[in-house]
Amino acid sequence: MTMQLTLALHRAQRLFPDKTAVVFAERRWTYTQFLDRVARLAGVLKGLGFQPGDRVAMLSHSSDRYLEFFFAAFWAGGIAVPVSTRYALPETTFLMQDCGAKVLLVGDDFVEMAEALKPQCPDLAHMIHAGEGPCPAGMIAYDAALAGAEPAPDARRGGDDIAVLFYTGGTTGRSKGVMLTHTNCMANSFGGMVHTKLDSSVVGLHAGPLYHAAAGSRVFTNTLLGATHVVIPRFTVKGVLEAIQTHRITMTSMVPTMMTMILNEPDLDRYDLSSLQLIGYGGAPMPVATLEALIQRLPHVRFAQAYGMTELSPACTYLEPADHSLDPAKVHRLASGGRAIVGCDIRVVDENDRDVPVGQIGEIIVAGATVMKGYWGQPEMTAEALRGGYMHTGDAGYLDADGYLFVSDRIKDMIVTGGENVYSIEVENAVLTHPAIRECAVIGVPHDIWGEAVHAVVTFKAGQSATAEEIIAHCKTRIAGFKCPQTIEVRDEMPLSQANKILKTALRSPHWEGRARAVN
Ligand code: ATP
Ligand code: MG
Repeated sequence: MTMQLTLALHRAQRLFPDKTAVVFAERRWTYTQFLDRVARLAGVLKGLGFQPGDRVAMLSHSSDRYLEFFFAAFWAGGIAVPVSTRYALPETTFLMQDCGAKVLLVGDDFVEMAEALKPQCPDLAHMIHAGEGPCPAGMIAYDAALAGAEPAPDARRGGDDIAVLFYTGGTTGRSKGVMLTHTNCMANSFGGMVHTKLDSSVVGLHAGPLYHAAAGSRVFTNTLLGATHVVIPRFTVKGVLEAIQTHRITMTSMVPTMMTMILNEPDLDRYDLSSLQLIGYGGAPMPVATLEALIQRLPHVRFAQAYGMTELSPACTYLEPADHSLDPAKVHRLASGGRAIVGCDIRVVDENDRDVPVGQIGEIIVAGATVMKGYWGQPEMTAEALRGGYMHTGDAGYLDADGYLFVSDRIKDMIVTGGENVYSIEVENAVLTHPAIRECAVIGVPHDIWGEAVHAVVTFKAGQSATAEEIIAHCKTRIAGFKCPQTIEVRDEMPLSQANKILKTALRSPHWEGRARAVN
């Protein structure tokens, strides 16, 4: 027998048949209804000639149907491909051609895009309109199709069969399709449950975009628990705060930029957030100053950080709630991503894959049940990433004597100035202790003598500002002089990736026009 994601649904339906499984806007489905709708959508797919191993894609903002899409793909024995809603047409077309999906589910805001990409995607045979508005000509109407379909039998795929193709965040270049198996996804969920102590009482809010592994993986975790899913179409600060208040949300997860936005919400105190027990976060470096402020601001909430990547389903560490302490003896741990999740081994190695001593920075490599099967259609890239049986993350970091992992930088973002390595996360954390600064991204810019100079791009909190000299002087009280920014650039806002991460490539490129960076 193997791990099968559909078993999560069978179990939840058997244990909690009448419990609310999914809430979206005015719609509510019990676990019995959720399972029935999944089996019917799988029936619709079967009726369209969908075979085990085929891909079905989803291009839509989040909704209850997004959850049905994931599980119907598994139920029909196929592969779910969630598509970023932030892509422009050429990127969506590339993804659809790359994955060769036979069926595409389309949300209201993406009808035009879907119609434009269809002629360029020879594998794409059918489109299902998964929106609320009238069904466009040439598309299959979602609810009518479900009503007319026979529930399909569960194809019972699992184990090393691919369940999902999540495309990576696209922070460093073009996204890669990551093949995650049923085992990968379940191992990730079990890790999260162990390290954050979750059970079926969870009322979980899907705050982030479900096309990204960080949020998408929560769909599996919450279903495995038999918890209640609350879905909002997309992240807005007010939308999240209102949903927490209205639905008595107990847990949610976010990326750090969303946490910064919540913290800076002037009306934060007006919302009743008393039901909230846990915020999971990760996916990008979490500024320590922001985290400390949030811990103080929301003292009744437990926090848990995950470090990982799409290729790791996505978590390989957890910084558990107990490690979110402002106690002076423990507070340094807030800069850590935490410790290896159960079933995972994390090493830090040099360029020859030899372990470096505790405390020394090297590349983070990871083995375990959450490590991807590979990159879709990219055997060479897969072999390179998984050499020696460990996923090579491309992230630099170190382990302390207690096994806490500290992520220092992406290797590609590391700055080499006058022969010294400067790791941007440490500098960003120093800059962010300045009270006027809201966000900070540190990058290397060309310098004739040192090769690269440390350059900080910042945004200010509302109504606040500081001069470059003040910011640099502030940093000098916190970190060594050679690590401090030489120059400061003020922006109104940061360029964000489709996964809401600060896009350093976009910040760097104007500085490097016509010049090549040593690492790129
Ligand atoms: P692409 O691979 O397409 O360039 P991406 O790496 O941003 O995009 P993801 O898989 O979403 O795509 O992100 C994984 C990366 O995010 C990690 O390699 C790491 O650099 C960063 N990251 C994730 N979690 C954390 C964390 N808790 N602390 C610091 N960095 C993190
Ligand atoms: Mg990556």
